[in-house]
Amino acid sequence: MKNKLPHEFVQKVKDVIAAKETLEGEVKRVTKDGQEVWFNNSIMPILDENGLQIGEVIVRYDITEKKSFEKLSITDPLTDLYNRRFFNETLTREICRATRDKSFLSFIILDIDYFKKYNDSYGHDAGDKALSAVAGALKNSLHRGGDFAFRLGGEEFGIIFSGLNQEQSLQFAEQIRASVEKLNIPHSNSTVAPHITISLGLVVINFAEENVDENGFYTMADSALYKAKNSGRNKIVIHENEEIDFF
Ligand code: GH3
Ligand code: MG
Ligand code: MG
Repeated sequence: MKNKLPHEFVQKVKDVIAAKETLEGEVKRVTKDGQEVWFNNSIMPILDENGLQIGEVIVRYDITEKKSFEKLSITDPLTDLYNRRFFNETLTREICRATRDKSFLSFIILDIDYFKKYNDSYGHDAGDKALSAVAGALKNSLHRGGDFAFRLGGEEFGIIFSGLNQEQSLQFAEQIRASVEKLNIPHSNSTVAPHITISLGLVVINFAEENVDENGFYTMADSALYKAKNSGRNKIVIHENEEIDFF
């Protein structure tokens, strides 16, 4: 097992023990064969009758199973992306963060074009494989800790990301659109392209200037997606007071 603990963590343990307090936390270890093992650790000082510290007790138990249930409860089994439940939690958390930091928060709803026709032509199993491949492309497009991809349901996905202004968000959305096109999954029955494509609705909010709640984010992105669908598909529409088509 890799045994290296971060310096800040070791210092925190020392500080808490010195203050005669109890520290509790979850720690992940990786075994030699790459397995993740999780522990809950509690460290408590032992004091004598005069309140002097004469030692400490460490209680540690394995919570790997609990962690794996937690992961299952926020993961969509077909695509391995986060599920809708975790989307709701994440959107609320990211809105709180952006409000506090007065920063940019962006949200994309995207949907596969003519996916019913894809199932009709290639079968439901092939449809499932295509959904997983699209999910993989989305996951590979995300590089930062504050970026999240979700399967919102059926063939509809969500991306939450932060810290990018309107222009940068649009470029990022374009990378995502292009990454799905590059998968080059044949879709002979689509009238947009001979391969699978997606349409995207984007909303970018600068919390230094305005506040938007969960419903607002969803409604704006969804109405932009609706416009992307109705104006040719395989494109991004950004929500503005006047919505504008791009690419
Ligand atoms: P549009 O371009 O307007 O989005 O057209 P569409 O055909 O993609 O949209 P529609 O909502 O009519 O059809 C969505 C299809 O997605 C229908 C459904 O069978 C398929 N679908 C949803 N979930 C799954 C899934 O888990 N697996 C498979 N294979 N297909 C799915
Ligand atoms: Mg669709
Ligand atoms: Mg749909």
